[in-house]
Amino acid sequence: MLKDFLAEPKNKIIQQIVENERSFCQNNYNGDQKKKDVAEVVHGKIPVILSTPHSVNHTREDGTFKEVDTFTGGIGQVVQRYTGCSLVYLAGSGRGFKVRQTRYRNALRAVMPENEGRVFLIDLHGAKKGSPFDVDLGTLYGKSISSHFVEEIKEKFLANGISDVRENFKFSAGNKTTVTNYAYNHLKIPAVQMEVEYRFRDANGDATSVWALTKSLVEIIEFLSR
Ligand SMILES: [Zn+2]
Repeated sequence: MLKDFLAEPKNKIIQQIVENERSFCQNNYNGDQKKKDVAEVVHGKIPVILSTPHSVNHTREDGTFKEVDTFTGGIGQVVQRYTGCSLVYLAGSGRGFKVRQTRYRNALRAVMPENEGRVFLIDLHGAKKGSPFDVDLGTLYGKSISSHFVEEIKEKFLANGISDVRENFKFSAGNKTTVTNYAYNHLKIPAVQMEVEYRFRDANGDATSVWALTKSLVEIIEFLSR
């Protein structure tokens, strides 16, 4: 819960992110070699699923290489801890080892609540250093989540000093392979992709920015779970 998060000193939160990230950054960011192509899941207590599919480097099925979105794995685990949301992340990969999309999708299905009801999905990513925005929200150009929720999400970021939050600016999540597209079209749940600029993820750098991002995510998830 937010109050548990706020009860922790800022540096302890940052330290937790750095510690979590160690599992992802081992082996040159190929992660845990005993867990190649394993999408780990944490079953949550609230109807929000957080996804970090680029928590380690990997090679896709079509042979293209996807570089890690640094600290999305470590931040995702901290946000899960304080919100009790469900979490799906990629734990490991290897050089030339192809990660199968169906495995990740099956993991997303595994954390879907059995009973009907509203569930939200947030797919967390990292946009490269120097991107012209703080966060770019991908919503399939407004299709995957209603504008009411988008406005609330932007307000939560803004209240924490993350002011340049754009929508479908560079990343609309429109590609068929995105988690947001899959969630919206196949799981039939509202979903949003968040591409976060490096400064707000680099837990070894500007602690204030990373803490602001993490706090925003905790608040957004609590809001969506209501
Ligand atoms: Zn990504």
